[in-house]
Formats: sequence, C-alpha cells, structure tokens
Amino acid sequence: MSAAAKIPALEAREARWTEFLGSVRAQLTPEAKLQEREMLGPRTTMRVGGPARVYAEPATPEDLRRLLVAAGQLQLPVRLLGRGSNLIIPDAGVDGLVLSLNHAHWQQFEARPDGRVWAGAGLRLKNLCGLATKAGFKGFEFLEGIPGSVGGALRMNAGAMGGWMFDVVEEVRVMSLAGEVRDLPKAAMHVAYRHCAELHEAIALGALLRPAASAESADIRRQIDVYQKKRVESQPREPSAGCIFKNPPGNSAGRLIDESGLKGARVGDAEVSAVHANFIINRGRATSADIIGLVRQIRARVKSARGVDLEPEVLLFGQEWRDVL
Ligand SMILES: Cc1cc2nc3c(=O)[nH]c(=O)nc-3n(C[C@H](O)[C@H](O)[C@H](O)COP(=O)(O)OP(=O)(O)OC[C@H]3O[C@@H](n4cnc5c(N)ncnc54)[C@H](O)[C@@H]3O)c2cc1C
Repeated sequence: MSAAAKIPALEAREARWTEFLGSVRAQLTPEAKLQEREMLGPRTTMRVGGPARVYAEPATPEDLRRLLVAAGQLQLPVRLLGRGSNLIIPDAGVDGLVLSLNHAHWQQFEARPDGRVWAGAGLRLKNLCGLATKAGFKGFEFLEGIPGSVGGALRMNAGAMGGWMFDVVEEVRVMSLAGEVRDLPKAAMHVAYRHCAELHEAIALGALLRPAASAESADIRRQIDVYQKKRVESQPREPSAGCIFKNPPGNSAGRLIDESGLKGARVGDAEVSAVHANFIINRGRATSADIIGLVRQIRARVKSARGVDLEPEVLLFGQEWRDVL
C-alpha cells in the first residue's frame, strides 16, 4: 500500500474503533473494564511492550460475548491475554481488542460431588495448586511455579516435571469468536507440545479437571516443595517469559544455547541468562526489539555451531515470529 493510500486506511480503522467503543460500552455490566491504550508490558512477566488499542476485562460471559460480537461486526482483531507469562508484547503495542479474564468471575475453583474440579480460565495456576492441596486433591503439583493462568496453560498445554496440563483435563468450555459456548471433551481436542489447536480461534472459559487421587494435604505439599526447590535452583529470578525456545525432538534448547557459548550474550538490556540458557531475562530496560534481536542472534549461532533450527516457544503477541526473524 502506498503512503498516500495508508492514511485513509488508518482513518477508516480509527473510525471503526470509535464506533466499537460507542456501541459496546453501554452494553457491558458496570463491573467490566474497558480502556483505550492500556499499557500491556506491566501485565506480562517480561515487562516489555506497548499498549493495546482497546483493553477489556469482561465481568460475565454475556460481557465477553458482546465484546466479541461487536468486534466481529466491525472486523476488528481480538487477542486473549492470560497472565502474560509466555508472551512478548511488541514495542508498538497491539492494534486490537485485548481481552483479559482478570475479573473474579473467571477465577472459580469448585470441587464437584463426583470428585472433579471446575477451574475458571482466569484462575492462577498457583491458586489452583494451593486450593487443590487444601482440598486433598493430588495431581496438580507440577503446575506449581508456572506463573500462568488456567486458560494460558490450556492454550499452551503447559508442562513441567513430567506432567502436562491436558493430563488432568476432562473437558474444556470454550467461547467461539462469534460468542457461542461449547463444551469440548478432551478426546475431541488436538493437543501437542505447547499446543492446543482448538484454542487458536476460541477462548477457554474454564475446564473440568480430574485429580489423580486423594491424599493428605501435607503429603501433597511435600511434593510441591520438592518441585519448588528444583525451580529455584535452575531458573533465573529476573523478569522473563520462561523458556524462549521449544526443545527440539530429543534435545534440549538450553543445552544447545549454552554449548554455543551464548550465556551472558546481550542485546540492549535483554540477556541470555547465566542460570538457564533457554531464558532471556530483562535486565531492566529491555525492549521487545532487544529481545527479538537476541532471539535472532541465538538462532543464527545455534544453527551455525550445531546445525539446529530453534523454534520460539514464547509467542510474539499479535504478530508471527516468521515476520520478524
Ligand atoms: C519464570 C517462568 C517459568 C515458566 N515455567 C514454565 C514451565 O515450567 N512449563 C511451561 O509449560 N511454561 C512455563 N512458563 C511459560 C508460561 O508460564 C506458561 O506457558 C503459561 O501456561 C502461560 O499462561 P498465561 O496465562 O501467562 O498465558 P499468556 O502468556 O498470557 O498467553 C499465552 C497464550 O495463551 C493464550 N491464552 C491465554 N488465556 C487464554 C484463554 N482463556 N483462552 C484461549 N487462549 C488463551 C494467549 O492468547 C496466548 O496465545 C514459564 C514462564 C515463566 C515466566
């Protein structure tokens, strides 16, 4: 598109945002949050990146549906933000409607009489572990220390210490981008390493989980303490987004990066952690451009030193890595 043609296109887009805000605001419950140009960096663990054009925290499923339908009618892009622990927000921000299930409505933990547990998508994994431990439910311990939400863990099929999120899932309740709610049994879902196909184009509202067994809270706590100790010893404390790259089949991305001599490598304030080479840490004032620059450097060095193409695990919010690498 030529520079002259871009200006009317931008103006038309701005007009759609104005129309969106004008129509949707009055449809939401008073508890819902709707904010223009909300900075997203502070809502992520890496702490970089610019604003969302519009940021919303629906307080009910009907709020969420109305936001989705209004954005769909005006062809405005929608993105889901969990606890921002697996994301890099671009410095320019996101020209989209960014939704967060931060309201208490989405943070339910309910033990059902049949032994299953309903967990809202906005529930922090730490709280899921804590509440399950208190209730004497075993099987969620591996999630302790993953700083995400249930929704983000479903989308990423988060895993640690030999366990995977979908090991404990029976059913996921989703809302499509058209606002329709469906319950998907695990058997109907396509799940792999850091991947859940059904959640690329839909929003997880919560999940029915099946504990592995009942146990004494003190015994469950002991296992959690073992995992916590492992994490403290093997992961950096500085802001990060967890592991930057997926492990290639049969290999460890951290080991490949370490063996390529990259620990401590730096672009601006983004640095390859000396504690765990698959973590990029923010030394204070890193930008997403610094992180992208360092990701490029790591990939090039590991390719030339070890002949392996590393694929990012962390997501570039609102963009595709292939467009920037
Ligand atoms: C210190 C540290 C340690 C970590 N350790 C681990 C680990 O051991 N194992 C591991 O797997 N990960 C780990 N992570 C990465 C991260 O915590 C997990 O991937 C987590 O599950 C992401 O959850 P989130 O809520 O932060 O999602 P976000 O990062 O906010 O989002 C991730 C993706 O999920 C989507 N999403 C979020 N909520 C929903 C929803 N309700 N419906 C549909 N899509 C949604 C987003 O759109 C995005 O595409 C670590 C991160 C850090 C910073």
